[in-house]
Amino acid sequence: MFKMKNRILPIVALLLLLTVALSAFLPADTFAQAFNKTNNTYTGKTPKYVFLFIGDGTSFPQIAAAEMYLGAQKKTASPEIKALDFTNFPATGVAATYDSDSFIPDSASTGTSIASGIKTGNGIINMDPQKKTNVEPITRKLKAKGYKIGVISSVSIDHATPAVFYANQVSRNNYYDIGLQLANSKFDFFGGGGFVDPRGERAKIANAQDVLEVAKKNGFKVVSTKEEILKLNKNSGRVIAINPQLDSSKAMPYEIDRKEGDLKLSDYVRKGIEVLDNKNGFFMVVESGKIDWANHANDAAASIHDTIEFNNAVMEAYKVYEKYPNDTLIIVTGDHECGGLTIGFAGTEYSTFFNKLEKQTMSYIGFDKIISDYKKNTKPENYKLEDLFPQIKAAFGLVPSGDAKSELVLTASELKRLQDAFTRSMQASADRKYDDHEKIIYGTYEPLTVTLTHILNNKAGLSFTSYSHTGLPVPVYAVGLGQELFIGSYDNTDINKKLVAITKADK
Ligand SMILES: [Zn+2]
Repeated sequence: MFKMKNRILPIVALLLLLTVALSAFLPADTFAQAFNKTNNTYTGKTPKYVFLFIGDGTSFPQIAAAEMYLGAQKKTASPEIKALDFTNFPATGVAATYDSDSFIPDSASTGTSIASGIKTGNGIINMDPQKKTNVEPITRKLKAKGYKIGVISSVSIDHATPAVFYANQVSRNNYYDIGLQLANSKFDFFGGGGFVDPRGERAKIANAQDVLEVAKKNGFKVVSTKEEILKLNKNSGRVIAINPQLDSSKAMPYEIDRKEGDLKLSDYVRKGIEVLDNKNGFFMVVESGKIDWANHANDAAASIHDTIEFNNAVMEAYKVYEKYPNDTLIIVTGDHECGGLTIGFAGTEYSTFFNKLEKQTMSYIGFDKIISDYKKNTKPENYKLEDLFPQIKAAFGLVPSGDAKSELVLTASELKRLQDAFTRSMQASADRKYDDHEKIIYGTYEPLTVTLTHILNNKAGLSFTSYSHTGLPVPVYAVGLGQELFIGSYDNTDINKKLVAITKADK
């Protein structure tokens, strides 16, 4: 060992001297430039099959939480993670996510950066920050080159992230106009969630044309049963496939709530690949939108289950890569972080207990329903937290006391928090006036439910700092033709520039 040191030390000293000597001849910013410039040029073969996966609200914490949760299921003495498959892709990078308004962006601005390569403001779909000029998403450029285009989302198909691949709007909330742009697009496959405002009711447009009727007139086949969707194939023509089970936001259910046998994100990717299959190739963008919503609600278990299904969806694309490794590119990234999730909590110090999250059997939405049913079926003078203990145990594994077999016994201070939250939840939402402290502990969520997820998260050693997005960068994983361009540290607009270079979309 000492011998090694003796040999290495002079080499290190020599290298240091050389570096100092060299830097005297080079201006300081040359070093900075050399390190800062990411490579957005490509001269290699153009891929025929291009996949872009976007985990909404998905950054390092969401991915790490899923990998640790899966690893903890092995119940090994020392910590072990089970890597999500896409994190093993050969090329890994980091992308900055800030937009032209804030270090903390939204899905419209970050989506625009990824789809069209510019920085813009919060809520804007494919327009400059002044909302004057439209920008063209890569999908339209590739359509013009002969690629078929597919857009899939687990939330509504007119939501900000899918919309940036086919629409231009001053606001992401223009759901009707976004829907019309989808119906009038020349694209080939839309799958997953439904439409928020297909008849223009929300936009208060008199005699509005039905978005789905416009789509049918334009040659789209619209399917919305499992049987029809499973029958889709390369001869189905242009398709809009809407999931049979949708929530009030027209999104697919959370994975943790999905019933066995119902369609999931990976089913849409598999079907989309079949529909889009053609000799000129295709570009498919897939959004897992509810990872974001789970993190807004601080529901770690729901986030983890959707992240695992996101990985399953990526692996459907990976089968194409395995079959056509010299014709395929797969990119997996997030648009921004959400919730300020982290691994670690003041109360659990250096420990985590991921297996405790296995006790959660439904999403926060599922428990919200239990609360609203309880209120409907109980006279206000009879409201008691104790009535809900069986449901709390079934949904989160949390028990009030005494159960020797349970690791999830509520402490006195946790019970007090639940009692306070229960009192708030039993009030009509219009009557709930929150002080600053309550705004922080409940956000805009059902007080009892969000307190239960917080308690379970914290017992597992996880915590959230926000009900909104945060300014963390996101990881980028790539495999296939041009993968090397995605190595390193760059801006989210560079993801677009790299994709444009690799697919020669501008030529
Ligand atoms: Zn969000």
